Amino acid sequence: MVTTTGTRDILANTFERTGTGSLLSATVGRWNGLVVFNYHRIGNALESSFDRALFSASQDEFEQQVRFLKRNFDIVGVEDLPRVLHDASSQAVMITFDDGYLDNYEVAFPVLKEYKATALFFIASGFLDDHPIAWWDEVAWMVRMCKLPNLQWKEYFEEPFPLKSEPAIAEAIRQLLLKLKSIPESEAAGFLTQLGAITGTGRCPEDVLDTIWMSWDMVREMRRSGMDIGGHTVTHPVLANCPTEQQRHEIQQSKLRIEQELAEPISAFSYPVGQPDSFTEETKQILAEAGYEWGFSFYGGYCPTSGFDPYDLKRMPVEKRVHRNLFRSIAKLPQLFAKK
Ligand SMILES: [Zn+2]
Repeated sequence: MVTTTGTRDILANTFERTGTGSLLSATVGRWNGLVVFNYHRIGNALESSFDRALFSASQDEFEQQVRFLKRNFDIVGVEDLPRVLHDASSQAVMITFDDGYLDNYEVAFPVLKEYKATALFFIASGFLDDHPIAWWDEVAWMVRMCKLPNLQWKEYFEEPFPLKSEPAIAEAIRQLLLKLKSIPESEAAGFLTQLGAITGTGRCPEDVLDTIWMSWDMVREMRRSGMDIGGHTVTHPVLANCPTEQQRHEIQQSKLRIEQELAEPISAFSYPVGQPDSFTEETKQILAEAGYEWGFSFYGGYCPTSGFDPYDLKRMPVEKRVHRNLFRSIAKLPQLFAKK
């Protein structure tokens, strides 16, 4: 088994560049089921004052990935899930997006149309309704706008974060987001206000946001062109950190709101953050009660036809570090490469 990122990268490069691919495939055996790739944003991360880690690929990279998947696999949508998950001969892939960023419509959608490929877009309905800044983008904005040489926050971190270079800034953002994801939902707003005071930026003003989210008209246009739409809560909290009633509200309301805008039912949901500790058995239960049939997580893995959980369908993140050879290897041999 491939256990470390470094080993996996080396093996993926060897697999793609040399003639060992077929040998490796023969050794591991044929896989069946579904590999789900997940994206957040497509475009140029270096131009963003928000969370650059959310950029999965440039438009060129995305186009190469879609072309590769289209040529080699069956790219499926939500209505195909019962078939591909129960047919032992299936080798299907799915393209998904989380959150509802505008670049999904402006940059990814044209590529998908060009290649006649479908994708499933999970929307946080409150982002489209109210255009707030997402908490991860606000943290990134505050750190990027901070004029101080170091960011010191003794309540949470022993050492100060230096803010002198892009890698250091990116690391500070990463650590702050990890902390924010771990605290109770009720403390999140206080965390952001406090961080704004420490960075000297205050909370992100609304005029900075410009147009960051898709509109409902765009979502409807994508749906008419054969894309699938799914729920991703209303305000994007980590559900496991929320009391039951709040979980129920976030899950039910996101479904109602999207169905209202689309005038048709939806059946797929993705858990915000999507790690094993981001949702619970209770969350899955609430999903089922709300009428969602599929719940997608985000901690790696794929969905073999033998033994999948419809409320924990595994997805592989597409991130900057997922280079061309690794992406292809994940699709070709998920038993070896579909690990986060
Ligand atoms: Zn999300």
